[in-house]
Amino acid sequence: MQNAFAAVLEDEPKYQQTSLHVEVLPILIHCDDCDKTTEVQQYKFVCSCGKPSRNVVQGEELLISKVEFID
Ligand SMILES: [Zn+2]
Repeated sequence: MQNAFAAVLEDEPKYQQTSLHVEVLPILIHCDDCDKTTEVQQYKFVCSCGKPSRNVVQGEELLISKVEFID
């Protein structure tokens, strides 16, 4: 997904600004175990304590709209 997206960016300058929005707004997940909010790195939805979490509190909606926009 990331590689395909980067390829589109190279061909279509108009997409670059939208891409920037994705990069500056991190995906945040909340961990029920340690009650902490962690920034998702490289699409690994894992808390800093090591427990996986899909409890997204920020960013996923923007990511989804981005994918639909490309299609
Ligand atoms: Zn945790």
